[in-house]
Amino acid sequence: MKRRKNIGLIAHDACKKDMTEWAVFNARRLAHHRLVCTGTTGSLIQKVFAEKYPGLEVELIRLKSGPLGGDQQMGALIAEGRLDILIFFTDPMTMQPHDVDIKALIRLSTIANIVVACTRSTADFIISSELFDGDYESIPPDHQAYISRPV
Ligand code: PGA
Repeated sequence: MKRRKNIGLIAHDACKKDMTEWAVFNARRLAHHRLVCTGTTGSLIQKVFAEKYPGLEVELIRLKSGPLGGDQQMGALIAEGRLDILIFFTDPMTMQPHDVDIKALIRLSTIANIVVACTRSTADFIISSELFDGDYESIPPDHQAYISRPV
């Protein structure tokens, strides 16, 4: 994992306020990295950054809206080894139409051994870690036994 990391940001509707507050509070640290967001989450973050930090240069890529395939696009980035950290504020109280995509995303994150936060407190711990802006060598999980399993 390089110093400049690829960070996925997703928030369910009930958590979007939390996400924008968190992103604004941490804007200067996040700006050193590449942000990849699902559609609506990304629009809201772009908007609050423009309001609170006009002139701050942040690379922010917006995928499709989560329920319209954005979670699956994020999952593809993880499967391809192109995401280092996923900050995913999930709403535990509301049934989501794309529940299967959410589960798949968490599962892929575990398979790839990337850094994942589903709560704001965990996100705070991650962004406060000295590893956040440094190099980090994660131990790649060995899935060889599954790949070469006889059919
Ligand atoms: P959204 O997607 O950022 O487009 O709202 C979030 C989600 O996956 O629910």
